[in-house]
Amino acid sequence: MITLLKNIAGSTLHLFYPHVCTGCGSDLLQEDQLLCIRCLHHLPHTNFAQLAGNPVEKYFWGRIPLTAAYSEFYFSKAFLMQHLIHQLKYKGDTNIGFYLGEMMGKSMLKSTRFSSIDALVPLPLYAAKEHKRGYNQATVICNGIAAVMNIPVLNGAVIRQEATETQTRKHRTERWENVKDSFKVAKAGELNGKHLLLVDDVVTTGATLEACGNVMLQSAAIKLSIATLAYAAK
Ligand SMILES: [Zn+2]
Repeated sequence: MITLLKNIAGSTLHLFYPHVCTGCGSDLLQEDQLLCIRCLHHLPHTNFAQLAGNPVEKYFWGRIPLTAAYSEFYFSKAFLMQHLIHQLKYKGDTNIGFYLGEMMGKSMLKSTRFSSIDALVPLPLYAAKEHKRGYNQATVICNGIAAVMNIPVLNGAVIRQEATETQTRKHRTERWENVKDSFKVAKAGELNGKHLLLVDDVVTTGATLEACGNVMLQSAAIKLSIATLAYAAK
């Protein structure tokens, strides 16, 4: 009887608050799921977490000394991934970011390459941008990873300062200098002695992660690894 009542209540709620798949809009999914079976099946996992010398690590060779690096998904292969990241970044859907972060955590738990990570550092946004969006998507992803790996997220340990001029007006080299100089370690004491995982949503050229990571390595005695939700293969 209670089950019946629960089902009726559930169905009624469903009428007013349709629960649909974040990926495709289908309503054929279980109450507590964000993605339907079909979308789950189509998620373009890279399986790079286990793989030393994977393409994401190669991106950073000669640019920054990393213990390990990986991306959970391919970005360019499927519309699905682009859609999910768009929902996370521009539609305020933090649930999907947390959920995909949990998937990253599960992949890293399966790999010995990430077993010595002590804490997570979300790639910081400019304060004005984060304020406008209401959150940092990298922090949302970190929270998902943290829930699975049971390690802390160091919010505010690394910050990003406002550029003084509009970056688009600048020469390419100056623009790079600007990115490089925009990161600052605010709490070196929190970082010292740790193996840190720097996290972002998508890696494209890797320039921003490289800049932030190098500032971290210069400012504190740490080991550094990098993980992103997706990898834009060239
Ligand atoms: Zn779906």
